[in-house]
Amino acid sequence: MDATVAIDLTPEQLQAGLIDGTLNKVALENLLTVNVHENENIDGLVQFFLQYMPGNRTMDEFTQQIREYNNAQICGLIWNANVMAYRCKTCSISPCMSICAQCFQNGNHEGHNYNMFKSQAGGACDCGDSSVMHEFGFCRFHGESRPHPQAVPHDLICCAELLIPHLLKVFIRALRMSAVSGDIVTEQKLLEILNQLSNSGSALQTCITNSLTDRKLYDEFTSDPSINRLYHIEFLNGEYSNLPTTYFLETLMVDSTSDSLIPFDTSLRTMLDEIMMWCVTTHLPEDLVRFLLSLLPDFNFKLSFTETFLRFYGVISQLLVEESHLETSEIPSRLVHISVQLFSSNVIADYVMDKCHLIEVILSCIWRMFVPSTDQDKQDDDDDDDESILKAHPLAITNEDTPVGMVVDVEHQLIVKNVYWPLLSDFVNILSQEKVVLTILENKKYFNFWLRFLTFFQGMNVNERITSHHIEYEPQAYMYAFTIELEISAAAMWCFINHLKADYPEEKLIVIIKQIVMSINDWLESLNFQMDNADHWKLTFHLPLHRYLAMFAYNAIHKFNIDPAAFLPTDNPNMLMNLMFHPLRTIAGYFEVLSNMWLRNGQQVTIQAKTYAKTAFSAAMHDADFFLLQLIACYLEPNLFIETVLKKFHSWLFDSTGRSSLDPNHQIAMLESVLITLCALVGFQPNNASRDSQQIRTEIIGILSVGDRLYSEVEENVPDPSPSSANRKEIETILNEVSDFQTPSVELLGHLHQGKYAIKGVLFQTDYDPLHVIMRSTKRAHFQNSLERFTKYVKHENLFKSDYPIWPPFRMPKYSHAYISKVQRILQSSVLHHFLFLCLNAYSKDKTVTENILYFTIYLLELSLISADKASSVVVETNAEEIGAFKTNDIFQNLCTLFSIGNESESIITLLLKILHKQRSNDFLELINTISARLKAANHNNSSRIGDSYYFLSNVLYLAAQMNAQCRVAIEQEIERLKSQYQQQQKQQQQQPTTTKTSDLTAEQKRQRAKNRQQKLLAEIAQSQKKFITQQNPDDQSMHLGTPPSLGSDPFSMDQAMTTATTASNIPVASEYSVEYECCVCRLTKSDVQSPIGLIGTTCLSLLPSLEFAQLDEYEQQRLSIPSNKITLETYLHLTKQCLIQISEHPYIANHCQNDHYLRSLRIQSCGHSIHVDCLSSYLKALHPNQGAAETALNAILPATVNFRCPLCRQSANTLILLFDHTDYSITHNHQQTASPVERLHQSMVNPSRPKLTRVADERCLLAFLSGLAAKCISFDQLSPDRPLLLPNHQSTKQRAAEFDCGTLRAQLVHEQMFYESANKIDQKSIRKSFYKILHELHHLGYPFYHQQLWQEVTGLLCPITTADVFDPQQTLPPILLRDPLTILFQLLMSTPIHITSDEFDVIVQIVFNIEFFKNLLSILIEQPVPESKDFDFDVDVNSVIKCVEQSRLKEQITYQRAIDDPIGKQLMNKCLDFLKTSSLIKYRLYSKEMPWTTGEEPSPLGLASYLNLNLSLNGLAMPRWFCSEPRAVLSKWLEDFQLTAQRYTTAAKILCLGRPQFHPPVFVDIPSKYGDLFHMYSEYHCEHCNRTSSDTLLCLICGEIYIKRWFPGCCSQQRQRYNQHLARCALPSAVMLDVQTTLTVICLPTSYGYWHSLYLDQHGEEDPKLKRGKTLYLDLKRLAILRTLWLTATFDYQIQNWLSYNSLPIGHLDGLL
Ligand SMILES: [Zn+2]
Ligand SMILES: [Zn+2]
Ligand SMILES: [Zn+2]
Ligand SMILES: [Zn+2]
Ligand SMILES: [Zn+2]
Ligand SMILES: [Zn+2]
Ligand SMILES: [Zn+2]
Repeated sequence: MDATVAIDLTPEQLQAGLIDGTLNKVALENLLTVNVHENENIDGLVQFFLQYMPGNRTMDEFTQQIREYNNAQICGLIWNANVMAYRCKTCSISPCMSICAQCFQNGNHEGHNYNMFKSQAGGACDCGDSSVMHEFGFCRFHGESRPHPQAVPHDLICCAELLIPHLLKVFIRALRMSAVSGDIVTEQKLLEILNQLSNSGSALQTCITNSLTDRKLYDEFTSDPSINRLYHIEFLNGEYSNLPTTYFLETLMVDSTSDSLIPFDTSLRTMLDEIMMWCVTTHLPEDLVRFLLSLLPDFNFKLSFTETFLRFYGVISQLLVEESHLETSEIPSRLVHISVQLFSSNVIADYVMDKCHLIEVILSCIWRMFVPSTDQDKQDDDDDDDESILKAHPLAITNEDTPVGMVVDVEHQLIVKNVYWPLLSDFVNILSQEKVVLTILENKKYFNFWLRFLTFFQGMNVNERITSHHIEYEPQAYMYAFTIELEISAAAMWCFINHLKADYPEEKLIVIIKQIVMSINDWLESLNFQMDNADHWKLTFHLPLHRYLAMFAYNAIHKFNIDPAAFLPTDNPNMLMNLMFHPLRTIAGYFEVLSNMWLRNGQQVTIQAKTYAKTAFSAAMHDADFFLLQLIACYLEPNLFIETVLKKFHSWLFDSTGRSSLDPNHQIAMLESVLITLCALVGFQPNNASRDSQQIRTEIIGILSVGDRLYSEVEENVPDPSPSSANRKEIETILNEVSDFQTPSVELLGHLHQGKYAIKGVLFQTDYDPLHVIMRSTKRAHFQNSLERFTKYVKHENLFKSDYPIWPPFRMPKYSHAYISKVQRILQSSVLHHFLFLCLNAYSKDKTVTENILYFTIYLLELSLISADKASSVVVETNAEEIGAFKTNDIFQNLCTLFSIGNESESIITLLLKILHKQRSNDFLELINTISARLKAANHNNSSRIGDSYYFLSNVLYLAAQMNAQCRVAIEQEIERLKSQYQQQQKQQQQQPTTTKTSDLTAEQKRQRAKNRQQKLLAEIAQSQKKFITQQNPDDQSMHLGTPPSLGSDPFSMDQAMTTATTASNIPVASEYSVEYECCVCRLTKSDVQSPIGLIGTTCLSLLPSLEFAQLDEYEQQRLSIPSNKITLETYLHLTKQCLIQISEHPYIANHCQNDHYLRSLRIQSCGHSIHVDCLSSYLKALHPNQGAAETALNAILPATVNFRCPLCRQSANTLILLFDHTDYSITHNHQQTASPVERLHQSMVNPSRPKLTRVADERCLLAFLSGLAAKCISFDQLSPDRPLLLPNHQSTKQRAAEFDCGTLRAQLVHEQMFYESANKIDQKSIRKSFYKILHELHHLGYPFYHQQLWQEVTGLLCPITTADVFDPQQTLPPILLRDPLTILFQLLMSTPIHITSDEFDVIVQIVFNIEFFKNLLSILIEQPVPESKDFDFDVDVNSVIKCVEQSRLKEQITYQRAIDDPIGKQLMNKCLDFLKTSSLIKYRLYSKEMPWTTGEEPSPLGLASYLNLNLSLNGLAMPRWFCSEPRAVLSKWLEDFQLTAQRYTTAAKILCLGRPQFHPPVFVDIPSKYGDLFHMYSEYHCEHCNRTSSDTLLCLICGEIYIKRWFPGCCSQQRQRYNQHLARCALPSAVMLDVQTTLTVICLPTSYGYWHSLYLDQHGEEDPKLKRGKTLYLDLKRLAILRTLWLTATFDYQIQNWLSYNSLPIGHLDGLL
């Protein structure tokens, strides 16, 4: 068509025309032809649709408006792999149900059994779909009762309705073309529009689905020749003809009588069909799949889609196989992504089962995958036989003539690569629908087919025992075998069984079971199986058919009460023997592995055995086999059965040589194994019921008897095979009954314990079942643990008194059904009795036979006696003669029968007594006397199961005697014989004078035993004392953490040093200093060696003080001109510093007046161990041999970057804190001892002198130490980009050094204070040792000058200023009342002699307090309305201060004044609190033992004032005190200075003198109390630089921002940089970050990081790392508090052992960590 005749139609015109029906048909046709049909320009097309589809509005407006009319009942939100979704077992109908986070949060699942999970293959939200989940789980926006919007207005949707079919056609054209060209850009752009439309709600979805399924539309589309040309139908035809054909399996089809194969119908009838075809041939591209799935909320479309999908199912399955050679294929997960949406719904499944051959389609495809069609393309198969997934069965006996059975090759790539998985998972998935299950079970074709299919897995992965060499290559394929059996065969089995309701017809069930028996027989036949010919060293753990038989039989008996004779060949012993052969072999093999007989096959066989018996799977494997054995034992002749079992376990006792071919250490293990198995056959109840609370209880008690357990450990180990089982509330209920919950606990310097469940002690007496525990443990240690705990309980409760080991309390068996109780028949077996006889004999002769073997033997004897009651004794035929057994099955007769062994004649009875003698020769006579006495007594009923070997042995004798007269006589005779034999021996011994009399001997032995007992008791007491002491001493506790012992065994304890050094205040401290330090390398003390010694320490930069914060009220905000109600200390001090700079005009003078250095200073700690500089030097040289010879100077061996570990305690260290004492330096005492403290101080100020280190080496070390500290701070200052250096360069280095000194000291105190304010009382004990005193002295030694001018200013005492002062006298400084008093305090302390007495110290504090006092008084008077004189409750010259305030005119600057009700005296004291706290802390550290206030409590200012010996007024207030003759003059000078400055610098003075806000220790940002909330807020981070979204996020608890883990490759360079900047900000000393994906806390230091625990625990007090369980997690406040304390004290080293470096990280290392 010629473009010139085109009539232009605007979108507005199109919409208007469609609404009123006046559309110009020609114009419309022209529009479509030009812009759609003839247009292959993709950008033009996209443009056209975006422009015209919305009509009279933009696309964004359109989608937004039409979304308002969304009427979707089902959410249907689609997500891709690795997205977090929710699953609620309470709400689900189908096990595959899942819902999106939004719907979960909008619904109500309170109290439900739900969890969050990471979607493996992607999925869709089922909310609103009542065929998949219950309505009560719907969110309020989905389901029937959702709010219904109005119908969509015609004018809004009309253009879209018109154009959508065309859009789809164009899309199909793009598919056709891209399939040929391989270019998918075109379809992508169109797909984007389609997705946009689909996401706009149900109205447009309906438009799309209507067109997609419209047959007429597609007919026209494909039959119009002109359209065909334009739309490249030739590409379609080409591709279509290449589609592979799949045929139905003939045997499955109803009309399989016809010979012709029935192909899958892949005809194309709708656009949907064609899109599906392209989707399939292009390997299910993710975006296209997503688009199709997004339309599924439309139910009718879902039906059509499922139908189409099934028609192409065959093509897809062929594709799977074709792609299996590729390294990775996305097809399996995408296929499951689709099919799980379709088959989970029972409505859909029912429909497609009836209409679309659902079962036949899936089964045919499965079969074809394993058995490639034999009829059609035979030609390919011939040359590559090894390609087949099936191989000849290794268990088969090869026979030239007959073909042998086939078995799956688990190493085949279809298995290894999980290619079969999607199809089988679809099959198992549809089995969750009852109708499907019943159809399959009742249709012989289907069920037989399934059994035939399972036969391929019967006996897969055969292990062959290696005896010669250890195998070099351990195959990994065994895992696939377990996956197949558990997730396919067993999963399907549970589906079948769970759908057998109580009303299911018995006859049908019997038919089903018979089919299974037949299949097993067929399988055996295919192996040419002959019992005697079978290889005894081949072992498979996979017998799916046997397990089907076991489980169906179990249910038939228990649920339907069907006599097993109805389905088992009970009258055919041969068939029974054949049936039990393989399960028995597997169980024996399992024990062989546990007995280390398969060691040379490597670890993998052990893993197989453990998986086989793992509780979570055992119901379908180990327990199923066991049940089958028990069932067959009920019908097989007992002797035959026992003999078979004994042979299978290689029992060597019957061997005429007495020895077997087994290795000696295997013999005992296997003997024990066969005994366990025999006990278990009679006394163990396999757990085969899918839900039985009694069995769950047994399992839980078994688990808890071994040890205290986390909830998840219990849950994991309680088998719950049924996939559709609803909630596991039952476990919780039972747990509450049988155990006590131990709440999670925290210790500051110890472990964090999660919540655990501990068994209630009384259950050991009533319920503990040792046999069950043995059967459940693959490690004997577990059983031993439970036995020890049982023994402990028995001893503790005094239930049984004995010095001998308590035996396991084996229980009397109970049977779940009368049919099964027949298993006791095997106890009436002469073969068994003979075997027990041999066991007893072996125990009495052979030292290697353990007591374990004895107690199992005794238990079996006991059971035989008890069951003999019920059984009629039958004389055995002679068949058992060959192994020399008893002649009868009668246990009583056999007990008495004598056998000759060697040259002795023994019976079971004589052996029992012989064993008793062997064990208890000391009191044997006593014991047998007791026995014979009790035998004479009429009735004895020993029902208790608690006892030692004597108890159980004698019990057997009592039982036998009581039940049988012949036995009684035999026992009595034997006892009499032993007695006389014994007496004879005694006589003989009496006749021999050399030996002690026997009676004496026993007395002696008794005494010895009593003595032993006493010693044991004493040892126990000592043990518990030790434990008690350990608990009292927190330092010892820190030792448990893996940091090896240090402080506990330390010869030198800092606290001791501190306290012994500081008793009397008037004596110079130096002379008291007498602690000897011992070097941890050479073990010599300080005085022994010339080399300086020091404490091994760590210094780390800490910004914590700068993070202290204050809450500001409105008044304070206004006063400080701060827009926020929160201010950090850093900001506040920055503000005041600016004011000081303004006043002094010199930054360095400002620094002198207010030293803020402590905000960003070092925290210095030590483990308390000391080392010589020389020793450290050689230690470091040994560590780093490549570095050149180090000098002894400290800076040479300890540059700022060196890190090492303490040689003693292995804690990390990077510095050496030098230890000097008075012997190292000379002090000149130039003042009179009689002078007052202030006179002494003044003397020293007038004639300053500093102690001099006598050795040059010491001097150099000190300098290196101090400059090293300063260097660390400076390098940090320079690193921080946003902070210009506070100290300008022209300032003298001495001045800077002095500031660092005072700042470092103050920083130590601030850190201590922060800890005291955040820790609780209990933690006080655990405080790390303080090294303040040592640091104080070191800094004092190095302090560069004297503050003479300052001294004169503050005291009013005339002091000539020398060159030793900081400033020259002409320098004017800001008024003293505007400076920081604590800065002044440190300056004065550093100016005084090194060891001032405590009363001298008090004087200095008092002097500075005077400033603090008047400063605060000024601030009160300025801020508050003028008080009356009566308001002053203290005696100070207030008037001059008031006058000064008036003249300063500052009061006028305050816009509103606040009145505070407190008396002024009290206000004053409160304002002084900070000053008093710091001063007291210094005094405490330097002079006293007792902390002046209690940790965790706010100290009282008055208490501190009196601690500091300040001048106290009558009413107890701290008052100024002067030391000069003219105090008024001093005060006037202060006030005058202030007044003048205030007049000149009004704003600055105002900020400086007004009350400082109250600052609190730093806190973490608030985090939600539920982890789910935190997860949804922070689990994703969108990077604005690279536009990627990352879900590896860290939330910083300090600044509250999100970061991407910088060690992950998904992080762009900007993010990495951002992360590093963050480290500089928050990681000093350590950033505390929450790893959102794993729930763990990451502690990030500047160069390394480590993992701490999770702050969130579930309702069972348990962590959930990586959110594997996905239960709701709650913030644990105790853990949060501990974390904060660890942060504030920089003591993470105590709890984190592994610090990882950022640089050395392999990708994905995290997985290794967890
Ligand atoms: Zn949803
Ligand atoms: Zn919803
Ligand atoms: Zn729910
Ligand atoms: Zn040394
Ligand atoms: Zn140490
Ligand atoms: Zn980025
Ligand atoms: Zn941060």
